[in-house]
Amino acid sequence: MTVETMTPHTDLLSALGIEALNRGAFCGEWLPTKGPEVVSIDPSTGLEIGRVTTATAEDYERVVSVTVEAFKEWRTWPAPRRGEIVRLVAEELRKHKDELGRLVTLEMGKILSEGLGEVQEMIDMADFSVGLSRQLYGLSMHSERAEHRMYEQWHPLGPVGIISAFNFPVAVWSWNAFVAAVCGDSMIWKPSEKTPLTAVAVTHIAGRVLAENDAPPIFNLLVGDRHQVGEPLTHDKRMPLVSATGSTNMGRAVGQAVAKRLGRSLLELGGNNAIVVMDDADLDLALRAVLFGAVGTAGQRCTSTRRLFLQKGIAQEMKDRLVAAYGSISIGDPMDPAILMGPLVDKRAVDDMMGALDKVREQGGRVLYGGNAKSDRGGFFVEPTLVEATPDMPITCDETFAPILYLFEFETLDEAIERHNAVPQGLSSAIFTLNMRSAERFLAAGGSDCGIANVNIGTSGAEIGGAFGGEKETGGGREAGSDSWKAYMRRQTCTLNYGDELPLAQGVEFKV
Ligand code: NAD
Repeated sequence: MTVETMTPHTDLLSALGIEALNRGAFCGEWLPTKGPEVVSIDPSTGLEIGRVTTATAEDYERVVSVTVEAFKEWRTWPAPRRGEIVRLVAEELRKHKDELGRLVTLEMGKILSEGLGEVQEMIDMADFSVGLSRQLYGLSMHSERAEHRMYEQWHPLGPVGIISAFNFPVAVWSWNAFVAAVCGDSMIWKPSEKTPLTAVAVTHIAGRVLAENDAPPIFNLLVGDRHQVGEPLTHDKRMPLVSATGSTNMGRAVGQAVAKRLGRSLLELGGNNAIVVMDDADLDLALRAVLFGAVGTAGQRCTSTRRLFLQKGIAQEMKDRLVAAYGSISIGDPMDPAILMGPLVDKRAVDDMMGALDKVREQGGRVLYGGNAKSDRGGFFVEPTLVEATPDMPITCDETFAPILYLFEFETLDEAIERHNAVPQGLSSAIFTLNMRSAERFLAAGGSDCGIANVNIGTSGAEIGGAFGGEKETGGGREAGSDSWKAYMRRQTCTLNYGDELPLAQGVEFKV
């Protein structure tokens, strides 16, 4: 790949200790990788930031076998001691929050406040996991047989494959990695090829903490594309769990490959998230939530707001206010604190957005605001876009990973819920209303069919304490808080007989 000029980011990379670390395979040591280079590009300029050599088949084998061996030792460490290692990783992340947040912004293009927020999310996940390391509870049951005790316990599962997407280049790793670590698993991270440097930086930090504390190499890395790393991981029987975050197409391939070998997959895939605004809503609140949801991260969150349902009484007012607000969004260098919207990740993302807008026009949609790529500068900038749409437009059922917001009008809540649910994805959803009955109906069994449903809060910006994930083509996985940890462990049901009889369950007699 030829890229014009090298931008000088050596200070940032050297503050993270990775200025000369251009290798894409780690298993307690950085392997001398010789696979083709991936070039990391700054999406706000289109210029190269750095290069990483990808893993070869030989590197793959080495990293997997080290990860398998590391698991055998790590699973014997008491869970609270494993939590202590995660706590120490979090200490290092706190020290490097600023540089790491900047690197996220540089490589992915989200504004600095969000880059820093992403590192904070890692720290929060670590803190959560440290507490969890003392709470991996199993249940005990009353046995139907006399002098028997019955309970379940949770054991470490094994090496975990973590495939992550470009848009949350570090937080998604931490959702999986810190929980898996306290659960006693070792892991291999396959980051997006678009964000290899953040993955190298995080692995460098976590690997150093392991080495300094004589812990086995559980936080390992393989940089490469789906052929070099992604598919081998999904087919590898040594990986009992593959957790994959990305597009629905990717999840379909991963889910099928892992199911074929009867492994477990945890899928976090695309969303097509909507906000319903009722006539009685607090419109100031709704407007702010829609702006953050639709324009934040330049529409590149899995939870970005892509559809807006407006009840007839407030529809025109909200449209007018949205057009005015879109006109005041500052677009530009994501490192500049005055900027609200940075670039899309690459040229292909810009082309995909323009292709979707061609379909919008063909299908009868009307662009109310925006609709263009910004050709007056380098990088991959676009205008945030508002489209007046109708429910029969097939494009509104697709997730276009860009800041396009489809506006629909509706009359009754039933109608809004039905249309809200009429897409293949089921990740995040929200209603704005001050009416308690409307709110409860949206959250009830016949309401939103998504994994996340909010009232008077937008679709994006979830807290880590809840289980995160969605239904239908979003894949059904749950990560981060609540009891998501169970996906990273194996459950064992134990029955112990302390008597001198051998009664059988269900009263079955078998006397010889
Ligand atoms: P992508 O699907 O192109 O790539 C994601 C990862 O999967 C990359 O590491 C890629 O190399 C790998 N991959 C692709 N095909 C593969 C295969 N067949 N086998 C194994 N690995 C494969 O996604 P992206 O463009 O990086 O990210 C954007 C997508 O991710 C959006 O659809 C977004 O909604 C989704 N996403 C979902 C969540 C969630 O939690 N639900 C979070 C973040 C992003």
